[in-house]
Amino acid sequence: MTARKILFIVLDGVSDRPCPELSGTTPLKAAYTPVLDKLAAEGVCGIMDTIAPGVRPGSDTAHLALLGYDPNKYYTGRGPLECEGSGIHMAPGMIGLRCNYATISSEGLVIDRRAGRIQDTAGLSKAIQDGVDLSKFGVGFTFRSGAGHRAALALKGPDLGHSVSSNDPKREGVAPLNVKSLKQAAENERTAAVCNEFVRQSREILFDLPINKDRVKNGLNPANVVLMRGAGEMGDFEPFPKKYGLSGSVISAASLITGIGNAVGLSPVHVEGITGSQNSNLSGKVAAAIQELKARDFVLVNIKGADESGHDGLAEQKRAFIEKMDAALEPLLGIRDAIIILCADHSTPCTIKDHSADPVPVIIRGDGVRMDDVVSFNEYSCATGGLGRITGAGLLPIALDLINKAHKFGA
Ligand code: ZN
Ligand code: ZN
Repeated sequence: MTARKILFIVLDGVSDRPCPELSGTTPLKAAYTPVLDKLAAEGVCGIMDTIAPGVRPGSDTAHLALLGYDPNKYYTGRGPLECEGSGIHMAPGMIGLRCNYATISSEGLVIDRRAGRIQDTAGLSKAIQDGVDLSKFGVGFTFRSGAGHRAALALKGPDLGHSVSSNDPKREGVAPLNVKSLKQAAENERTAAVCNEFVRQSREILFDLPINKDRVKNGLNPANVVLMRGAGEMGDFEPFPKKYGLSGSVISAASLITGIGNAVGLSPVHVEGITGSQNSNLSGKVAAAIQELKARDFVLVNIKGADESGHDGLAEQKRAFIEKMDAALEPLLGIRDAIIILCADHSTPCTIKDHSADPVPVIIRGDGVRMDDVVSFNEYSCATGGLGRITGAGLLPIALDLINKAHKFGA
């Protein structure tokens, strides 16, 4: 039986470098992972340069590459992808920015860049959406709350450039900066002027809002200014269903990954209790993926927790999370009608607390694969596998061939 579907699971940042706390091995190698090991034993394994050897991927550029959208061509900044992830539909040419609610003092100095880690900002964002008027620029906008203190701003209008700076001073005790044009062009000057006007008007609205007055009364920092960064112009993505002839969904707690999925035409699936952190509802995510696979040809799942431990430099925590994740992946062993791809999007070594270009381990498991001798899933064993060393751009085509969706080149 030839599999007809693809389940693509990205264990974000799961691979690592040797860690001193783990006697010189990696958290993935040190972890007890019977499920991942079984999948490796039943599949063909390898290692992968997600973008290219020596290139340190962001999660965004890595996921674009894995989905077959060359980030050198398609990546236009994080802002528009975050907007998509916040539920704003971005048409090609729109400008997207990532935003934070922050606190400024009566003297106009930033005193808290996260506004006391405010949780629910929907009321604030609605007041801004209703109150700010950019019509004198001929520009429309959508402003949406994200998780916690985060938000996203999308601008739509003629002659808007995306090369503009941030107003975030990146430290406290100083005033927000003016948004400036980064490359001399009338379009960028215009976007900068629009952003500065947005900040000015939203600040006036936020200052008087009852929500903020209540926060001050309760000894909490008010969310009275919007800081913005990551401006980018929405790219023109060939829709995934058209490109591959596959319908698809995306399951991720990270709005950036959901945004990439949305941008390429994968439907987002909401799962209760997923956090992108150590405490995420991993079983819920796996159950949702299996459910979704009944209706769709392709399901992308991102599991973020290991990346977080890598950024925090916590090797033991990373190992423990990997073991928890392994247990949650157990239902995958019963899947027979789909090709399962398992990989990381990049390594996040605890020793450097950031992403590195070290290649990541990969498994392709399902009907038709030529099983190799690899029986455990880690950076070392996969390097000896039958896939050898591939690039991210090559991964999905291999799976497409296994489900008979690859086009024949030549006679
Ligand atoms: Zn990542
Ligand atoms: Zn990361």
